[in-house]
Amino acid sequence: MSGHRFNYCPNCATELQWLARLEDGGEKARLRCVACDWTHWNNPTPVLAAVIEMADRDGQVLLARNAAWSGKMFALITGFMEAGETPEEGIAREVLEETSLKVDALKLIGVYDFQRMNQIIIAYHAVARGEIALSPELAEYRLYRPEDIKCWRAGTGYAVADWLTARGITPQWVDLPPRPAPDAAA
Ligand SMILES: [Zn+2]
Repeated sequence: MSGHRFNYCPNCATELQWLARLEDGGEKARLRCVACDWTHWNNPTPVLAAVIEMADRDGQVLLARNAAWSGKMFALITGFMEAGETPEEGIAREVLEETSLKVDALKLIGVYDFQRMNQIIIAYHAVARGEIALSPELAEYRLYRPEDIKCWRAGTGYAVADWLTARGITPQWVDLPPRPAPDAAA
């Protein structure tokens, strides 16, 4: 549903139209350009996320509040991949850019869908250390004992729950706050 909205063809600037066409999976309506045949596939965007375990702070987990959010939601560090980097390089870069922390080790937790944002979340457990200095995107952070973290039932909440479960901790669930800002992968 969400994601980029295209009104005009990025190739030839003709106005796009919803047109049904026969594809491998059957007839499918998409935004298409009648002039040059460009198609807006609207594939989900990969988003990287990290459960940051602080190696030098007793194994506490860092969650941060996005400056653009109105509520008091603390979430995983997330970010988009850059061209030319691996997912591991991308999440290590995002953790460094957003918190100044250096990642010692990464392990994939899992891949999670987040259809409301037309995203797919690739979640890592990141062991990190160093002084914390947040990017301007983030308003504040908190360090939590893993057993005190609450998971919401969407996006990265499931990644956190899987990570906790793998450590023998039964996840605690909370309701999602109403309508987080775009980009809030959680
Ligand atoms: Zn076109």
